[in-house]
Amino acid sequence: MSMNRQGRPSSPDSAVSNTSPGNAALLPDEPLLFEIGDTDHSGVDLPDVEISGSRLGGHARKTPLDLPGLTEPEAMRHYVRLSRLNYSIDSGMYPLGSCTMKHNPRLNEKMARLPGFADIHPLQPQSTVQGAIELMQQLADWLMTLTNTSGVALSPKAGAHGELCGMMAIKAAHEAHGESHRKIVLVPESAHGTNPATAAFLGYQVRSIPAAEDGTVRVAEVEAALGPDVAAIMLTNPNTCGLFEPEVKAIADAVHAAGAYFYCDGANFNAIMGVVRPGDLGIDAMHINLHKTFSTPHGGGGPGSGPVVLSEALAPFAPVPFIRRDGDALKLVEHADGEALGRLTAFHGQMGMYVRALTYMLSHGADGLAQAARDAVLNANYIKAQLSGTFSMPFNSQPCMHEVLCDDAFLKGTGVSTLDFAKAMIDEGLHPMTMYFPLVVHGAMLIEPTESESRQTLDRFVQTMLGLAARAKAGEAEAFTAAPLTAPRRRLDETQAARQPKLKWEPETTPLQAAE
Ligand SMILES: *Cc1c(COP(=O)(O)O)cnc(C)c1O
Repeated sequence: MSMNRQGRPSSPDSAVSNTSPGNAALLPDEPLLFEIGDTDHSGVDLPDVEISGSRLGGHARKTPLDLPGLTEPEAMRHYVRLSRLNYSIDSGMYPLGSCTMKHNPRLNEKMARLPGFADIHPLQPQSTVQGAIELMQQLADWLMTLTNTSGVALSPKAGAHGELCGMMAIKAAHEAHGESHRKIVLVPESAHGTNPATAAFLGYQVRSIPAAEDGTVRVAEVEAALGPDVAAIMLTNPNTCGLFEPEVKAIADAVHAAGAYFYCDGANFNAIMGVVRPGDLGIDAMHINLHKTFSTPHGGGGPGSGPVVLSEALAPFAPVPFIRRDGDALKLVEHADGEALGRLTAFHGQMGMYVRALTYMLSHGADGLAQAARDAVLNANYIKAQLSGTFSMPFNSQPCMHEVLCDDAFLKGTGVSTLDFAKAMIDEGLHPMTMYFPLVVHGAMLIEPTESESRQTLDRFVQTMLGLAARAKAGEAEAFTAAPLTAPRRRLDETQAARQPKLKWEPETTPLQAAE
């Protein structure tokens, strides 16, 4: 029998019974608001009003609204219970490779809530929000200094959006130079899926560059693929195998010699911030995920923020708005003639994330940012050292950067797949690592601890991982294929959920049927 449906009897076929409720007060089966409330009741008592003629013309609703009436505690409890079903960086380690799930310092939150930042409106006259514009300018300065670049577009709202911005700047630059016949973008096999998607979205053909045996990209392979029809390369550094590209400078030179631009996917900047300046490596455009490197929260839909730094060659092609000093005042330029791209977002981007990211920068200082990068690399190598010997690692000849890449060779013959292993981690109280990415590695497991985890947390993680590996090798495959047993839901059809999401509640479908 399931518990706590606001005092209502639950139906005997409730699917709760097939998962362990753990702490029963945590309610694994939280009904929808529509199932808790009903349309016959209202959560608030409002005095009747005398309506003297409607001002809606003929547009007033004719059918009832059908919203469930709930009291404030009912509605509040519903959302608090749902929030407890979330795994979050605030509740445990989140080793999701490439995602940089680091701690979001509370100081960032405190600053973002200052009324001078939180309560302003993007349509206010600029003279009344000079402090906020100054903050954007400072953030832009830090980003350009850390990367040694000449321009920055703050407004893109995520890494993928930043890719679009940077590649649009590249396209605009080629067009301005009469080079619009360049139709090909080179993308290494190990790239994040957003890279080829961005290039294709802008009408480019994607030419794939194979990875060398050691997981990195060789300049010879790039040179072989370059030609007068190539517009750009999109290269990730450190790459998605967690390795610094040793030939990155030579690749940049070759790309420039061929008249193309170097777009760098900077999602992994966390590993090198304050230590390496991408501008020194020859990049022309690079997005920076503030929600990864600079600790602004992400997951659960964001909001992310993906500013793009630009080389001198591309800076004139930045989108509006951008900031210009106008005497003593700062001016957000909202319209620009000439080469600027136009606008990529409504208003000015994710102001709340700018405040959090700059707070992170200022509270760390230049030396603190470099230390955070070094600690991220140290933590990843600590895990790598402890897991190697048990876990198989395809590119083991050199230390890794901020993330450790394992493959599924160590599970061969055990009947346990990467997916099963990840699901078993949930029962151990861990969020799984990134699975099956990058695609260049079979059954990939990409582990990124970030700098915010303590030695004790890393040790516990390692012990859990080694314990699971031992059980897999001892023939306990069934415990893995049945996992997770302690989660509110077990194995979901994620593909169907993504392709055919059910976004509207319909009385005849129970949420469990929809989800499982
Ligand atoms: C996260 C990530 C992206 C995309 O960033 P979003 O903010 O999720 O759009 C692109 N490339 C790499 C390597 C990433 O890790």
